[in-house]
Amino acid sequence: MKDPYEVLGVDRNAAEADIKKAYRRLARKYHPDVNPGDTTAQKRFQEIASAYEILKDPQRRRLFDQTGQTEFPAEGGFPHGAASPFGTASPFGQGRAGGFRYTGDLSDLFSDLFSNMSGASPERHVSPFGDDEDSAAPLTISFRDAVLGGTVTFRAKIPRRCKRCDGSGRAGRHVCPACHGAGSVVESEKLSVRIPAGVDTGSKIRVAGKGRSESGDLYLSLSVEPHPYFRRDGDDILAEVPLTVEEAYAGAEIDVPTIHGPVRARIPPATQGNQRFRLKGKGIENTRTGTAGDHYYRVLIVMPAGTTEEGKRLAEAFGRLYQFDPRRDLPWSL
Ligand SMILES: [Zn+2]
Repeated sequence: MKDPYEVLGVDRNAAEADIKKAYRRLARKYHPDVNPGDTTAQKRFQEIASAYEILKDPQRRRLFDQTGQTEFPAEGGFPHGAASPFGTASPFGQGRAGGFRYTGDLSDLFSDLFSNMSGASPERHVSPFGDDEDSAAPLTISFRDAVLGGTVTFRAKIPRRCKRCDGSGRAGRHVCPACHGAGSVVESEKLSVRIPAGVDTGSKIRVAGKGRSESGDLYLSLSVEPHPYFRRDGDDILAEVPLTVEEAYAGAEIDVPTIHGPVRARIPPATQGNQRFRLKGKGIENTRTGTAGDHYYRVLIVMPAGTTEEGKRLAEAFGRLYQFDPRRDLPWSL
């Protein structure tokens, strides 16, 4: 693994915004869609993406600055015998293993940057069915296209009037050799549809003139792929955000991932686990209703993995500051 600062061409003290700017500039330049078939560019793009993954995450950046390591150990002990910069118990081990990291593939991760570029995803096919002029077909779309809107391209088999016999099925006294008497032939047609923001599983999109006859329409019945992190409730988004004990106790300013990108949010002092916060208008901007939903996030207080002698001493000293019983209000008898 190369030095991520070198890969992105930024100074060791570079601010987050400058790192992001450098990343965006380089990623655009070396993106595989811009350099089809160029394996050097592809390799470079992957280096750039990996370097940015490290430097955009304050915890991983600090780890690299202090140890030169680019990965957190899976469980206990740092790789290659390196000493943990956080003492024997990494405060980040637990939280990171908790499934909050986005583990989708690289092209999904960067799709927000390159949404208008084509070629990244395999071609989709739909097979319409129906027995009148219209037809219907299911179409699966990404969570991103459903909540932010987008254009989806796919191939559909569309019956079209046979040009050879003009739909009669006959060629003089014989059966038409092009359509074998059916009067129509099925053509595979590449179609693009605009998906408005806010659609959900069950929404229908009409593609005019693409039904079983030229006067019929094709109705696409959408089903939306789930997202590994964001959940949806109508036009609202629900998610969980881990906090360290210090952040929950003393308050903090943190970045909260939303479908519109990271949003800076203030965590007040004495925040409780499971407390819910709202980022108004950061949910789905429904283009049908014209209103924007909210982003709700519930905080999880993540304990460091493992303990140290010093940590125990500090925890006991902390406990002496607050003589309260968190189980006081439980039903102690029936
Ligand atoms: Zn024909």
